[in-house]
Amino acid sequence: MPSPEFSLIDHYFSNLTSSRPDVELGIGDDCALLRVPPGKQLAVSLDTLVAGRHFLPDCDPEALGHKALAVNLSDLAAMGAEPAWATLGLTLPEIDETWLTGFARGFGELAECFGVQLVGGDTTRGPLAISIQIHGLVSPERVMRRDGARPGDLIYVTGTLGDAGLALLAAQGLYVAAEHLPALRRRLDRPEPRVAAGQALAGLATAAIDISDGLSSDLGHILKRSSLQTSLGAALHLDKLPLSPGVAEYLSETADWSIPMAAGDDYELCITVPERRQAEVERLAGELDCGLTWIGMIEAQAGLRALLPNGEILDQLPAGFDHFAR
Ligand code: ADP
Ligand code: MG
Repeated sequence: MPSPEFSLIDHYFSNLTSSRPDVELGIGDDCALLRVPPGKQLAVSLDTLVAGRHFLPDCDPEALGHKALAVNLSDLAAMGAEPAWATLGLTLPEIDETWLTGFARGFGELAECFGVQLVGGDTTRGPLAISIQIHGLVSPERVMRRDGARPGDLIYVTGTLGDAGLALLAAQGLYVAAEHLPALRRRLDRPEPRVAAGQALAGLATAAIDISDGLSSDLGHILKRSSLQTSLGAALHLDKLPLSPGVAEYLSETADWSIPMAAGDDYELCITVPERRQAEVERLAGELDCGLTWIGMIEAQAGLRALLPNGEILDQLPAGFDHFAR
């Protein structure tokens, strides 16, 4: 973009976040210069949100600023990494000061919460899209990957499942009792990345993933990546799935397990832990604000089996939301 516009962007972003001592050079030069402490690895991830696909163009810019950063922080949480730096790619149809103020506030507040410094980015004109690259720090011996799950491992999830999915259905016209709507909607608009849980579980877990596309699909990624000579599987106990009051009520009326099993956008963590470390995990579960719930086991038999409370296997397992399936 031409320089008058750039100075506007500069105005919004150059002092948005507070400075970290490990930033040698932040916004303003061709590159940022960052110091990775000895013994730590850099964990890097990028997510793009496109108007019309990931959010509606008239979406509240403050919520969008929050969510765009939150989904990136969630990836760091899933690896057990500590958030450090972010870069921001903004593609804007026009310079809209009200929009930029809101977006910067949502982004900035969440960045402050997690001690993230915005150290650079790129601004171009085009259809509204937001790309954020997040950088975190992790000790190699503590990092959680997707490929370490083994038969007999216990499966846990943080928080509650299906809230964002039910909020989306409600926004599309499904009747949901009014008392549940604000809490559900907040989960969709303002996901809270489970960074503290991820760091606490790193060192205990054999594998972890953040649930962005739905439990069945994301647990499927752990199974696939952890399979060695033969494919791994898992058994999930549906009556153990942690549910908010809104989702619990919806399920009692519809028995639609696809909401907690396959709806995306919750950004909870799914982790696997060796059985011998159960006591440690249970102790941690009691300390984590977001909660941590046992939901099933990794098994040597391939496939994902969802067990109903009466012990029967749910035969139509809902598939996770897939952006390319539609
Ligand atoms: P260059 O042409 O060298 O890529 P730019 O003129 O695009 O540099 O950017 C100038 C400085 O402003 C750089 O340090 C860049 O990282 C930063 N910057 C540009 N856009 C953003 C943005 N949306 N958020 C944060 N920093 C940005
Ligand atoms: Mg340059």
